[in-house]
Amino acid sequence: MKIPETPKRFDLWIDGAFTPSTSASYMTRQSPAHDCPVTAIAAGTAADVDRAVASALQTFESGVWANTSGAERSAILYAVAERLIERKQELALLETLESGKPLAQADSEVEWAAGIWKHAAALCRHLYGQSCNTLGASTVSMTLREPIGVVGLITPWNFPLLIASQKVPYALAAGCSAVIKPSELTSATTLILAEILKECGLPDGVLNVVTGYGDPVGQALCEHKDIEMISFTGSTTVGKAIAATAACNLKKVCLELGGKNAMIVMDDADLDAVVDAARLGAFFNMGECCNASSRILVHEGIADQFVERLTAFAKELSVCDPLDETSKLGAIINETQEQKILGYIAAGQKDGATICLGGGKVETEKGRYLEATILDHVPADSATATEEVFGPVLSIVRIKTLDEAISIANRTAYGLSAGIFTNDYNQAMKASRALRAGTVWVNTWLEGHPELSFGGYKQSGLGRELGSKAVEEYTEEKTVLFSLGKRQPWW
Ligand code: NDP
Repeated sequence: MKIPETPKRFDLWIDGAFTPSTSASYMTRQSPAHDCPVTAIAAGTAADVDRAVASALQTFESGVWANTSGAERSAILYAVAERLIERKQELALLETLESGKPLAQADSEVEWAAGIWKHAAALCRHLYGQSCNTLGASTVSMTLREPIGVVGLITPWNFPLLIASQKVPYALAAGCSAVIKPSELTSATTLILAEILKECGLPDGVLNVVTGYGDPVGQALCEHKDIEMISFTGSTTVGKAIAATAACNLKKVCLELGGKNAMIVMDDADLDAVVDAARLGAFFNMGECCNASSRILVHEGIADQFVERLTAFAKELSVCDPLDETSKLGAIINETQEQKILGYIAAGQKDGATICLGGGKVETEKGRYLEATILDHVPADSATATEEVFGPVLSIVRIKTLDEAISIANRTAYGLSAGIFTNDYNQAMKASRALRAGTVWVNTWLEGHPELSFGGYKQSGLGRELGSKAVEEYTEEKTVLFSLGKRQPWW
């Protein structure tokens, strides 16, 4: 795989074609792994958002997409899944160059995304309302599921194609038109996705991509009076700001936000399974993962043994150029993030934690790499153990009982995911019920399927993606009531 000699240039995607921004300027993305420009992305403006929303609204009102049958939509979504696989190498390379993630991982994320498109394709044909036939002889009622209208989709940099694929196909399955704004750091694959949708038969204007910064582009989407819903994935701080802005015309808001996910390890757990899951959970995507197992609450009876084994196992992870096929941890997305991560490591040490592994930068000629880091004896309520680090840093907190572990796990503002490793089904069930999180894993971690809903409790979000109701999120429910026979007078 080669790095392109000149950065690949992308314009906005509006009304089914690449079109320059009114700003006439481009944002150059440097590969965080190679320190060279890899893409030049149009810097969109509020005026571009207006153009894109107008195109989406026009197509929505024309019914060119909203009035198609589920079968027609399904065929297009399924074709997209196949085309994603055909263009897998190109997509994976762009994701790696813009984000720094290992190429082999980016490759499997394209496959995962294609699977989601197939799931959405199936749901197109299973969007049902209800009927009510118990209202008396002269009344019958039904509900209709209708597309909510034009939706605004805003995505982060850590899984660009994957997260776009958790939104776009379900919005389209519902019959909505959409405008999507990817992160300014990782926009390329979302633009290619739009091109693929056209190739597969999506009418022009149904999906538009406006690239650019959160302010003005994301902000303009949230303020726009013709947008009925915002689906956002990103940080809790920005999520709160978006919810406040979107209240301007009472848009529906679906938020997938940050997490500080606790993996509980009891003293009867299968240690082979735990160290493998903990390593994956903490270091997958360099820990830049909303579902990272960034804190492990381990029973004191096995803690020493667990830490020793996990440290030895994590040492084997190769931190290097993400284009190298041995790479398991690639580059960190940008300097701000790198400094934030190093700050949390320093704060952890100041609070009394000890470093078992890593703790600093990996010195390389090019790029920005951090060591896989394990901190032990982290105080349960310290910043490192309760705030989202979003980097390859694992905090180990030692616990005495399951009740204590559950209490610590629930003592953060977040509630995205959590999990327990134990061979005692009573403990597993107790934790599954008591953990305040949208996903609870038992004897596994980071396992997801498009069939299963995903979302957060508390400040990890609002609403759910994926699962059997993913399309319903993008619909309104209308009640239709039929009065039968001769009308009974008012009095
Ligand atoms: P941010 O919240 O910084 O940004 C997310 C998106 O919002 C970007 O496209 C950004 O634009 C845009 N944005 C920024 N400001 C505004 C605004 N005022 N109005 C509208 N849009 C705006 O998140 P990151 O990109 O840094 O991603 C990391 C975060 O995402 C982490 O907290 C992580 O936990 C969370 N996340 C959650 C997931 C989940 O499913 N729960 C999954 C993946 C990540 P730009 O940055 O281009 O300026």
